[in-house]
Order: sequence, then structure tokens, then C-alpha cells
Amino acid sequence: MSMMNRPLLISDLLEHGAAQHASTEVVSRETHGDLHRYTYADMAPRARQLANALVARGLKKGDVIGSIAWNNHRHLESYFGVSGTGMVMHTCNPRLHPSQLIYILNHAEDKVVLFDATFAPLVKGIAAHCPHVQLWVCLADGAHTPAIEGVSNVVAYEDLIAGQPTTFQWPELSENDGAALCYTSGTTGNPKGVLYSHRAIVLNAVSGCAPDVLGLSTRSVILPVVPMFHINAWCIPYAALVAGSKLVLPGPQLDGANLYNLMETEKVTISAGVPTIWLGLVQHLEQNNLQFSTMRCTAVGGTAMPKALIAKFGEKFNVEVRHGWGMTETTAVATMSNLSAADLDKPADERYAIIAKQGKTVAGIEIKCVDENGNTLPRDGVSQGELMVRGQWIVERYYKSDKSALVNGWFPTGDIATIDASGTMVIRDRTKDVIKSGGEWISSIDLENVAVGHPAVAMAAVIGVKHPKWDERPLLLIVTKPEQKLEKQEVLDFLSERVAKWWVPDDVIFVDTLPVGGTGKVQKNELRATYGSVFEASA
Ligand code: AMP
Repeated sequence: MSMMNRPLLISDLLEHGAAQHASTEVVSRETHGDLHRYTYADMAPRARQLANALVARGLKKGDVIGSIAWNNHRHLESYFGVSGTGMVMHTCNPRLHPSQLIYILNHAEDKVVLFDATFAPLVKGIAAHCPHVQLWVCLADGAHTPAIEGVSNVVAYEDLIAGQPTTFQWPELSENDGAALCYTSGTTGNPKGVLYSHRAIVLNAVSGCAPDVLGLSTRSVILPVVPMFHINAWCIPYAALVAGSKLVLPGPQLDGANLYNLMETEKVTISAGVPTIWLGLVQHLEQNNLQFSTMRCTAVGGTAMPKALIAKFGEKFNVEVRHGWGMTETTAVATMSNLSAADLDKPADERYAIIAKQGKTVAGIEIKCVDENGNTLPRDGVSQGELMVRGQWIVERYYKSDKSALVNGWFPTGDIATIDASGTMVIRDRTKDVIKSGGEWISSIDLENVAVGHPAVAMAAVIGVKHPKWDERPLLLIVTKPEQKLEKQEVLDFLSERVAKWWVPDDVIFVDTLPVGGTGKVQKNELRATYGSVFEASA
């Protein structure tokens, strides 16, 4: 060996941030509303105090520490304080059904759970069912820690770390040790855990700083709206310390007005989140005739970002959209859409169409599409099959599972995609959402994207509904924008002009809301349960 073989560790990211970007700010909306402001130099000693507090309570390497929390500075400290010790930071999604939360807390055997006061009622409901949890820590000071009826082992975070030394000897862990744990939303069966290694997270965080990914630097101010309880907020909390970027954490206030104010007052340059968040923000901007002063880029993913919204960001607000694809099993971003120098000369509409694709792999990740028999499909932009992924930060097996999740060394994503000759990937559907009509596939995502392009449509979902002749036919569900009237025929005409005739949905149903799950995705299972046989009934 001719080079040093230093492990890639999360504790090193913290110490790098504190030493090299000491005066860089972290601004955080506290759960009780105040704005908290400090620097990386202030943050690191508190992360070390947390590490000392956990060790002092007898917790050790491999123990799982849960969190049910917003994006805030104490949650950030715990990302480093917990993983740095060799313990596992288990971020839990508070939007899961309580029975699922109980399941994952028991499955992972969390010994301590950090929670925000907002979720005290949730803790009250689940605590009795989580026998492994020795301590519930409210991410607040004593004054903002509520008493929880029936739960005696509650302590305020500030009391837990008070008086602890501000130095800590971080252990030299293996870079392959588990650092963080996140469960998939569990669309089928019980949620499954993905245990991220230090190596996977550090590599992903470094990759995230690259210009064509998030392009983070000491000049950036990043506001991750994507929650720290979902895939480590796409590793942005780690990447910010790598790059020395100012971090703005919005806490529980995620509505358009609050996000906009925070973006303006803190001079945010880049943000990240699922498309639904941006709908609220854009609505606020339009209603109040506002513009961004500093925000120039936003990363989106989690579901497809409609071209119409990408265009609006570009045309009206001068914000470049970075559209990425990833999943719980891929740590964070695996592919990203981008405009090359040549693309910049293309007409606006073409540019937005390129961004609407899920893009190219970032270095360290490979993708391919396969047919039903596992044969690799050509990269021609039309052959669609299941997307397979492998690389430096992809899951190998689910937490506590004794069997590999891979097929011939590749992870099967359950997404249906095409890849073109340039390597650009487009998600066409989920295996279970794809609509098969008369033996041909119809993409529910493409139809939804076209439907939300109608000016009166706020949200759209397309499901395959059993059909006596065609096997399945598309049904479109629409939520209209406030005070907008829309007729079924108008929608069908709009779609007819834009998609193949046989793709036009057999029916359109107007609804007040669509069921949205814990990670911001429309729950198509629920829609299928409600509407799945409407065409059979009418046949
Ligand atoms: P989760 O593990 O809950 O984050 O869900 C991952 C799934 O979200 C992926 O397998 C895709 O089906 C979907 N997804 C993520 N990003 C995108 C995107 N940019 N476009 C379309 N679907 C996406």
C-alpha cells in the first residue's frame, strides 16, 4: 500500500467543519418558534457533549438512538454526536402510522429516542409499546419540554448535555460500521431498514458538493426543506460541513410564507425538497407578487417534478431546478438532471424537458434497465424495464436481514425507467403503478405531468383501474386550484392534444384532496382500494 488508508468517518466531517469553517452559521427555527443562530464552532462542542452524555449513560457502539424530529440545530448535533461515537442515528418519520413507528422502534431496538415537542402526543401514544427505549429526550430546554402523561423517563436535551465535557475522543471506527438507519415507507409489508455506513454517507456528502449535483461551497447558503427524518435530508447536513456552507434549518414551519421569509432574511442561495413543497412556495410568491433576492437553485426529488413547475421556476423566478432521483436504499442522490454547455443554447422548452428527466448518474453510481428475464435493455431512450442500481452508497441487504437484496450484484429499484444513449435516465413508473392496457404500458407519471400542466389543476394522480376489455385503463383524479372550475371534457380535450389517444384516461374524478403518505408521495394503494373497480362496475 502506498497511500494512507484513513477511514471515512462522520466525526471527521464535524471536526473539519468546526476547524475550517468555524464562523459559518447554522440558523435554526426552534420548535417553539424562535430563530436560533450559532456557528459550526459552537455546534461541535455541543455534539461532543451529547456523545459524552450518551456514553455516561452506558450506551455503547452499535446502540441505536432514534429521533422523531424536525430540521433543527439539536437534531443536527445529534447526527454527529450519535454517529461519531459508533452509535446508530435512527431517524424516524413522524408521518408514519403510529403502529408502523412502534414496529420500527422495536425492530431497531432503539434505546434512546430524541423527539421534538410537537411530537409529544405521538410519544405519549407509542411509549408504552416500545420496551427497549430507556430514555425519551425532548430536543429543547427544560422550559419547552412538556410533561407527557404516563411517560416518566423524559428529559430535556439541554439538561442531558449540561455539564458534560466539550471534548470527546472520537473512536477510530471502521468506515463500514453502521452510522445511520432509515426505514422505507413500506408500501408493501412492514417497513424495511437501511443501515447506512460511515463510508456511504461521507462519500455521498462529498459527491453532493460537486458543481453538477448541489454545487455547495463556502459561498452557498442552503435550506434543506427535505426532512432530516427522510434519508438524512439527502445528506445535506453532512455536505454542508464538507463545503463550509451556511445551513438554514426551517423547523416545523414549512408553509410558503415562512419558507420565503427565511430564504430572504438568511440570503438562502439553494434549497432542496419534494415538489409538493414548491407548489406552496410558488403559490405564495404568485399571490403576493414576490421575487427571490438570492435563491437561484433548488434541488427536487422524491417524486417527478412536473415540467410546468420547472418552467415556472425558471421563467418567473429565475431559479434553476436540479431534478434528482434516489431512494431510501440509495443513501441520497443517485442521478441528477443537468444542463450541459450545449443544452444552454437550446430553446427554453427543450431545456425544461431535459431537467424534467431524472438525469445522469453521479460518479460512483451505475444504472441499467432490465427486462422481465433480467436481460440488459439497450440505451435507446425507449426500451423500458426495471431500473437496477449499484455503487458506493447503495444498500446490499436490509437491516437485520440475513439475505442479500441484490440480483446479480445490482439492487432492483422497483422503478420502471428508460436510459438513452447519453446515459440520461427517465423514470416512467413504479413497477406496481404502471398501467398495462391491452398489453401496452401507459405511464401514470407522464399523464400526471401533462395534467398538472393545465393552469387550473393543483394536483393529479393516475391509477390503473381494472377493465373488462383492456385489462387496465387509466383513471385520472384531480384536485383543482382554489376557486378554479374545471369540466371533465375540458381535461380530456387538454390531454387528447398532448398524449396518444389510447393514453387518454377513461374517466376523470374531481376530489378535494389526494391521500399523501409520510414521504410526500400520493398513496396510490389507497386510491386503488377506493376506485380500483369503477370501470368494472360500469361495464
Ligand atoms: P423513498 O425511498 O421513499 O424516497 O422513495 C423512493 C422512490 O421515489 C423511488 O424508487 C422512485 O419511485 C421515487 N422517486 C424518487 N425520486 C424521483 C424522481 N425524481 N422522479 C420520479 N420518482 C422519483
